[in-house]
Amino acid sequence: MTAEIITITATAPDAAAAGAPVLTDDPTAHRVLTGDRPTGPLHLGHYFGTLRNRVLLQDQGVDMFVVVADYQVITDRDIADRLAEHTESLVLDYLAAGLDPERATIFAHSAVPALNQLLLPFLSLVSVAELSRNPTVKDEIAHSRQSAVSGLMFTYPVHQAADILFCKADLVPVGQDQLPHLEVARTVARRFNERYPHADGSVVFPLPQALLSDAPMLLGTDGGKMSKSRGNAIPLGATEDETARIIRAARTDADRHIDYDPVDRPGVAGLVLLAALCQDRAPEAVAEEIGDGGAAALKRTVTESVNEYLRPMRARRAELAADRGHLRQVLHDGAERANAVADATLAEVREVMGAI
Ligand code: ATP
Ligand code: MG
Repeated sequence: MTAEIITITATAPDAAAAGAPVLTDDPTAHRVLTGDRPTGPLHLGHYFGTLRNRVLLQDQGVDMFVVVADYQVITDRDIADRLAEHTESLVLDYLAAGLDPERATIFAHSAVPALNQLLLPFLSLVSVAELSRNPTVKDEIAHSRQSAVSGLMFTYPVHQAADILFCKADLVPVGQDQLPHLEVARTVARRFNERYPHADGSVVFPLPQALLSDAPMLLGTDGGKMSKSRGNAIPLGATEDETARIIRAARTDADRHIDYDPVDRPGVAGLVLLAALCQDRAPEAVAEEIGDGGAAALKRTVTESVNEYLRPMRARRAELAADRGHLRQVLHDGAERANAVADATLAEVREVMGAI
C-alpha cells in the first residue's frame, strides 16, 4: 500500500452512535459508492466491515450508491451461479440492515451500460505490471475456483474504479482487502484528470478516499478472512440454530484461558471480537469475563451475542422476503437513477477525450 490511500477512522469515542463514521464537514456534500458481489448471503464481516457504516452515513445525509457487482462474480468462477437469487438476497440484507431505497441508489452494474463503457479508457491508464502485483488479486487467485486465471480477474479492480468513478463518489466504505483496489481507482482518476482536463483546467473525477471501519477484517470460523465463498462465514440471514452450529465448529485452540490476542491466537481473537462488536464492548473485557471458561464458554457467549444482536434485523429480513416484487422494483428504480448519472459522466468523458 502506498501513501496515496487516505483512510478515515470510522469511529470516535464521542460519536453520537457507537461506530458512527466521523465526517468533519457537511455530510450532504459527499457521495459514497460501495457494493458487494452477489456470490452468496452477506455475513457479519460485511455488516461490521462496511454495511453498518453505509447505513450510518445514509442516515447522516450522505448521497449513497450501492452496487451489486454482478459482473465481478465471473472474475474467479466459470459461471455466475444462482445470480438472481444471490442478488435478491443482497438487496434483502441491505434493506434489513437499514438501507433505504428512497435515499440510497441500489443497482446492479450490469444494468448500467455507460458505467461499463468507462472500462475501456480506464484500462489504457494502468500497466499490466501494476495490475499483476495487486495483493488482493493475488490472494483471490489463490482461493479461485477456476483452473486458469481469467483476464477479468486482473482487470476487475479497474472495473471497480468505473463503479466508483461513474458516480464521482468521493468516499468508499470498505474492508481492508479493498484498499489496493481503491489505490487503483485513485490512480485511474488522477491519470485521467492529468491526461484529459476540461478546457478550463477543471478535472472530471474526484479522488475517492477509503473509509475503514473499526472492524476492517473480521475473521471467519477457520481463522481466515470471513468470506461468502470460503465456507467460514456467519450469514446475517442464518437461523439461530444455524448460527449456533457454525460457531460450534469454529477453530480455536487448546488453551482454556481466553484472552484477546489477534496475533498469536487469531481463531480465539476472531470469536472474542465478534462477541465484543455485538455487545458494543471492548474485546479485552469480553475475554476477561470468560477467563478460564475455555472455548465452550466462549462459543456460547458468541452465539448468544450474535443471535441477540441480529434478531431484529432477521425479523425485518423475513418480512421483506415475502415481497420479491419489491426487491426487483428497488433494483429497477436504482438502475434508472444510476443510468442517468452514468450517461452524464460518459458524455463528459467523451467530451474531454475529444470524441465526436
Ligand atoms: P467473496 O468470497 O465472494 O469474495 P466476500 O465475503 O469477500 O465474498 P465481497 O462481496 O467480496 O465479500 O466484499 C464486499 C465488501 O465487504 C468489501 O468492501 C469487503 O472489503 C467487505 N468485506 C468482506 N469480507 C469482510 C470481512 N471479513 N471483514 C470486513 N469487511 C469485509
Ligand atoms: Mg471478496
